[in-house]
Amino acid sequence: MICELCGRETDNFEYVIVDGAVLTVCPSCAKFGRKVKGMKARGINLSALSAGKGGDELPEPDTILVEDYAERIRNARMKMGMTQEQLAKKLMEKESVIAKIERGDMRPSDKLARKLEKTLGIKLFERLDEIEGG
Ligand SMILES: [Zn+2]
Repeated sequence: MICELCGRETDNFEYVIVDGAVLTVCPSCAKFGRKVKGMKARGINLSALSAGKGGDELPEPDTILVEDYAERIRNARMKMGMTQEQLAKKLMEKESVIAKIERGDMRPSDKLARKLEKTLGIKLFERLDEIEGG
């Protein structure tokens, strides 16, 4: 092994941190840097220097009901030539529920909104990070 500071060949090298970089140095150069704690000469793992991270799993993306859900549902239903009653039957809901949703008086439950998306072929949810401010 070659010392990265003085370039001398050494069998007894150490790992030290100099200006944030991990260097392999001979014992006489080790005093120029901070010794890397708990790091063995073999199997150096630089990622161990960074703060430990949590689990690997990403949280579920936040999705919210679109603001114009009422309009989207009504437009899609009318495009398909369905009455509120027909749509309600398809979704096994009350006609009054569909009417309220289309007026914007009632927000559909997540479950119902998913059914509406499928039945009408529309998108009712959007990810929070896709929404632009303003
Ligand atoms: Zn050296």
